[in-house]
Amino acid sequence: MRLLLSAYFTLAAFAPAADGSLEQWRREIEASGVKLAVVRVATDPARREMRLLGDPPHRPIIVSYLMNDRFRAELLGAHALTVTHRAGERTYSFVVLNLAREAEWRRYASGLMAHELGHVWLESQGYPGLPFSGAEDACVAVHANDMVQHILIRAETRRRQIDAVDYWLAKLMPLIQDLEEDRPRTPLPACAELALLSHWLDARLGVAAEDWLALHPVAARFASRYPDLAEVAEQLETVLRPANLTDRDAYRAALHATYEHVQALYRRLAARSATAQATPESGARPDSPSSP
Ligand SMILES: [Zn+2]
Repeated sequence: MRLLLSAYFTLAAFAPAADGSLEQWRREIEASGVKLAVVRVATDPARREMRLLGDPPHRPIIVSYLMNDRFRAELLGAHALTVTHRAGERTYSFVVLNLAREAEWRRYASGLMAHELGHVWLESQGYPGLPFSGAEDACVAVHANDMVQHILIRAETRRRQIDAVDYWLAKLMPLIQDLEEDRPRTPLPACAELALLSHWLDARLGVAAEDWLALHPVAARFASRYPDLAEVAEQLETVLRPANLTDRDAYRAALHATYEHVQALYRRLAARSATAQATPESGARPDSPSSP
């Protein structure tokens, strides 16, 4: 009961404008046996410190994730992460809100919550994401899950008439603006490049064809600036566009194929940044490019 109340009050506090559809969705998810809690994590990106606020249920489980470097890095780069933790017969789901970026998502809190509930709902409906391994390449599974699950989440929030579009667009706009302004490319860690790919794929698959026409110049810029990401995005489109993801077998096959593509890309990106880092010590010419 404490868990349900805690989740209720936290959700209510973060989604004051929700019209009841979100609350209804959360109730349906919990009725299917999922234990859901919304937890708030204060972060200090400069010191890479994180603090769990309040006294959420199953605190040791959440802390075990927060102790993991890869998890912390992913949370720092996100507004929120949804964790599905299985222990024996039990499944715990946590929506972990990153308060360090609250200024970015506060206006869209119900859209953000709808998005994260979507991830939990998919787990409860037999569309599991790939588990978080905690290893160096753990971000591959995180982003592969997003790439596939976001398609189903967009469809479900539309069906439930929950307004998650504003939040989705707000997340996408920094990338679009960045491309429009044609700023020089900053070398990013491999996991951050995968996050970019995920945003780009969201745009490719989520923006209606007629609206996409307006984004043509932006698409051309993305392709010339991130040719490796654009190439994989195209491959993933051929996997995901025709897939009937509501079919659980098709969903699993698409997720597996997506993971394979993203893993291969991750290896290339990680090898390239390792080479770039090694370049100064390996006697390369000082004017040779240190980044792709
Ligand atoms: Zn997501």
